[in-house]
Amino acid sequence: MKFRREFYINGTWVKPHKARDWEVIDPSTEEPCTVISLGDQEDTNDAVSAAKAALPKWAATPPSQRAAIIKKVLEQYELRRQEFAESISLEMGAPIDFSLAEQATCLPWHTQNYLNAFEQIKWIRPLGPQAPKTAVTLEPIGVVGLITPWNWPVNQIVLKAVPAMLAGCTCVLKPSEEAPLNAILFAEFCHDAGVPPGVFNLVNGDGAGVGTQLSEHPDVEMISFTGSTRAGKAISRAAAETLKRVALELGGKGANLVFADADHRSIKWSVDRMMENSGQSCNAPSRMLVERSIYEQTVEQVAALTEAIKVGPALEPGAHIGPLVNKRQWDQVQNYIQKGIDEGARLLCGGPGRPEDFNRGFYVKPTVFADVKPGMTIEREEIFGPVMVMIPFDHEEDAIRIANDTPYGLTNYVQTSDANRANRLALSLKSGMIEMNGKSRGAGSFFGGMKQSGRAREGGIWGIEEYLESKIISDYRFG
Ligand code: NAD
Repeated sequence: MKFRREFYINGTWVKPHKARDWEVIDPSTEEPCTVISLGDQEDTNDAVSAAKAALPKWAATPPSQRAAIIKKVLEQYELRRQEFAESISLEMGAPIDFSLAEQATCLPWHTQNYLNAFEQIKWIRPLGPQAPKTAVTLEPIGVVGLITPWNWPVNQIVLKAVPAMLAGCTCVLKPSEEAPLNAILFAEFCHDAGVPPGVFNLVNGDGAGVGTQLSEHPDVEMISFTGSTRAGKAISRAAAETLKRVALELGGKGANLVFADADHRSIKWSVDRMMENSGQSCNAPSRMLVERSIYEQTVEQVAALTEAIKVGPALEPGAHIGPLVNKRQWDQVQNYIQKGIDEGARLLCGGPGRPEDFNRGFYVKPTVFADVKPGMTIEREEIFGPVMVMIPFDHEEDAIRIANDTPYGLTNYVQTSDANRANRLALSLKSGMIEMNGKSRGAGSFFGGMKQSGRAREGGIWGIEEYLESKIISDYRFG
């Protein structure tokens, strides 16, 4: 077993001030796969000081030079892609083929999209023809704290660290203590790419410790956070005293509206999209709303498709789904399955306990409930496991009402071949993202929600702008 107790501060790996070991558990075996340290206030202070010291020079580095260094991070990724994907599989349970194809590839995908968007940033421009001598300038916000979860760990690190560095900010990353290995590799990529000391720092820790310390820190100008709505509220409170900018990407309970005229492939797409990553995606289409005229036949199809899904260990090749990340998550999902049964939903497939053939590992049976009533616990709350609920609806307005009746507003999905209806729905659904007929959002889109899903915008030009301050200057002498 490897020990990774050091933190990356000011361009070197340093020992924590106090030993506070944390075992990272491989969810496929329930055995420890590495040991890290959880940092304390002094470790946090050291990282913030390094970031603060590095800020003036990095902010003054020409944007094209910053972009050139970030391009080198991509080269490091290419050299160590397999190792990177394996680290994700080991620590959070995503099957290796999925890690290689979907999880690890978030790094080149987002980085390249950011590099493209970065070219469009206008660092200084006249306000407009009515005020040609008034200038609008952009500058980095300063030292930023980045706090990320375990479920799409690389995705969230890249969505924050890359635009922060491109914008000219310096940063301190606190990755999830459940999945720190990929973050440690990312720090190595930055180091080997030539990111200057202090521009990118990493301190491992938990939410109560390093997470809170970063949120409260007077020298941190902004926190970008992805994780639970609970932690998002705690961070907002901790950050209030210093009035720092807080960007939040939180939970979701996406509705997937399936109309009778939908393409027949949309049913399989709906199940696959729900169950991938073992349902541990904030944008999972976890409430499948089906037009009543096709409801019973869809229920049968969904049951057959879900029963065919295989579950297996993360390091085994193949198209199965893996275990959940940890025991806490496993217990939580089991509780929700039991609640669904107790509250009277129809259990179509799956159910409580591990799948057959497993007596270890945090494996869950892919589970679907039908005849779920709006207001049931499994319809309201984010389950974050391979558990989907099915609800019939009678007409369009009915579907919109059910879909929007949630505190969340991250992604909603629509399956219909009626273009007018598709457009009407897109404008009526309250979420930051709408995905139509299984089509992904285009390159350079943002990711972000409304309501209690948080209102941050990550990806594309919006994701870079999060890390910039604007300034307005009268009587500016344009050269
Ligand atoms: P979590 O909120 O428990 O932890 C996320 C991160 O925040 C971890 O690094 C954790 O150590 C830290 N943290 C926890 N409490 C904190 C506190 N009080 N102060 C500062 N930091 C704190 O979430 P999780 O269990 O790691 O991830 C799952 C959640 O993340 C789900 O609710 C999911 O929907 C959400 N998520 C949202 C998005 C999105 O973009 N909207 C993407 C992925 C995951």
